[in-house]
Amino acid sequence: MILIRSIRPNRRPASTVLLRPHILYYYSSSAASSAAAVEAERTIRLGPRNDWTRGEIKSIYDSPLLDLLFHGAQVHRHAQNFREVQQCTLLSIKTGGCSEDCSYCPQSSRYDTGLKAQKLMNKDAVLQAAEKAKEAGSTRFCMGAAWRDTIGRKTNFSQILEYVKEIRGMGMEVCCTLGMIEKQQALALKEAGLTAYNHNLDTSREYYPNIITTRTYDDRLETLKHVREAGINVCSGGIIGLGEAEEDRVSLLHTLATLPSHPESVPINALLAVKGTPLEDQKPVEIWEMIRMIATARIAMPKAMVRLSAGRVRFSVPEQALCFLAGANSIFTGDKLLTTPNNDFDADQQMFKLLGLLPKAPSFSEDVVKDFEAESCAEVASSSG
Ligand code: SF4
Repeated sequence: MILIRSIRPNRRPASTVLLRPHILYYYSSSAASSAAAVEAERTIRLGPRNDWTRGEIKSIYDSPLLDLLFHGAQVHRHAQNFREVQQCTLLSIKTGGCSEDCSYCPQSSRYDTGLKAQKLMNKDAVLQAAEKAKEAGSTRFCMGAAWRDTIGRKTNFSQILEYVKEIRGMGMEVCCTLGMIEKQQALALKEAGLTAYNHNLDTSREYYPNIITTRTYDDRLETLKHVREAGINVCSGGIIGLGEAEEDRVSLLHTLATLPSHPESVPINALLAVKGTPLEDQKPVEIWEMIRMIATARIAMPKAMVRLSAGRVRFSVPEQALCFLAGANSIFTGDKLLTTPNNDFDADQQMFKLLGLLPKAPSFSEDVVKDFEAESCAEVASSSG
């Protein structure tokens, strides 16, 4: 399919679609449009929607790869500042010894991965790490604790509220991932200044019991509801390479894209198989699988920050460039992602320079998200053009 910009708007053919008030595009009638092309055009014209059918998401996902990549990039350029990439730093503030049985996770106490369980890090150590991350250009600091939930952890939870307040006071966005939380805890985190709460759905509802048996998919969705109702931004995505079928990847994206509001951040992780976990022999995810996930997520959730997360360390700069082109606009920086290795900081800075990427500034406006929801992509495009 060929996308052509007309220079004679008064001779518009029947197949013309108007994407921006002042720019006219039409599609060549000699080639059939892929689902990615059709849905990307609709997303650009009408803005985000939550009424996706699974069939629609599947047909975007199944589009010819380069066509999907191209249309992911089109939506990305209309809905986001495509040169900006958010840099987040993730710190494990309480490592290992987790009671859950997530098959991919070296922090579960059920698997012998050689990881030593540690207590909650003290305030000085956490704040020092946040300071270092800020100096290195990170605008969001995420704290992860290996817990099933925060119930019965009153003292630790109060300490974390303190960390959130302090880090927010440094001018950084703050995110936490502490397992399942109740509504009251979500409200307390909001009060402390938390920007976002991460709670991944991991995979499809159908495949979930193959990966985790100690909690349910609905438990996950319940926490996301508490986070959303407290007015905290939702960060939720998944992991590919767990042995799931492509249908499961479609199902995961469909669940995320049909939540009452799209998550503000959607991390797409590629499994880094860790020795000692039940998934230690999984074969590595290929870059083409990541591109397919990222571009589909971008078309279905145009306003979300799509985060190229775990597994990035295995991808070359040209491979990462394709991910940014497809619609990824957020990464984790720092030596480690909780307990697994991450990309070298200097190499990331060189990559930014080489690709002409710009670090995204922090955003503290609580109204931004609501405004974005109300505004169509086309309006964003015309005001930025
Ligand atoms: S992913 Fe989280 S909940 Fe699951 S075992 Fe690891 S630390 Fe525990």
